[in-house]
Amino acid sequence: MLYNIADMKTNPSLRQLGRQIDQIKEQIAGLGPIHPGSMSPQYQVCGNPACKCMHPKQPQRHGPYYKLAYVYRGKPTCRFVRADCVQMLKDRLDAYKRFRSLIDEWIALSIQQGTVQFFSQPAKKPRTSTPSKRTA
Ligand SMILES: [Zn+2]
Repeated sequence: MLYNIADMKTNPSLRQLGRQIDQIKEQIAGLGPIHPGSMSPQYQVCGNPACKCMHPKQPQRHGPYYKLAYVYRGKPTCRFVRADCVQMLKDRLDAYKRFRSLIDEWIALSIQQGTVQFFSQPAKKPRTSTPSKRTA
């Protein structure tokens, strides 16, 4: 963490918050290619009875083959990754995670900015209307 969130809660300064947001934007601009999802190794059986993967006592399955899974606009997708691209995709998955966490920080800082700028009263929890139960 680059800065102390607790300090800003007690003494938020708009200029400070703006600087931190600028830093986040710079870090996002410096990210390489990104890709959502996660990759997992898969081990498979080919079905050939003479193959080592079908050995009755010590089967050695084929693999690992890497499968990428991600959801985009509600649509889940699963694909096998070319062996020579596994590391490249890993880097993109890492960059995507970094991207998302930077966005989360940006949102948190923006809410703090708004808290300083827009509101005349301290935050209230929204009232949940729980009708008082009558005891007969
Ligand atoms: Zn096999």
